[in-house]
Amino acid sequence: MITTNISNIFLIYLGLYLFVCLGAWFYSHVKQKRKTVMTPLHEVLHCEYCTSAYLVRVRQIISQCPHCKSFNKKNTK
Ligand SMILES: [Zn+2]
Repeated sequence: MITTNISNIFLIYLGLYLFVCLGAWFYSHVKQKRKTVMTPLHEVLHCEYCTSAYLVRVRQIISQCPHCKSFNKKNTK
């Protein structure tokens, strides 16, 4: 029969707890590195005339406001 005392049981429990915590941290770290960075396809533009906000494509320089139908130019700095 295996004999042990309470301090050994506590050390085994602490070791297993630490191992599980480090494993979860390592798994989340690896999972986060696999994510790819995606560039946005649309951005918010405010109309110069009616000040309403609407979505335009990122590469679109001139857009038409869906509310007042006026043309707006994106400020490219
Ligand atoms: Zn407008």
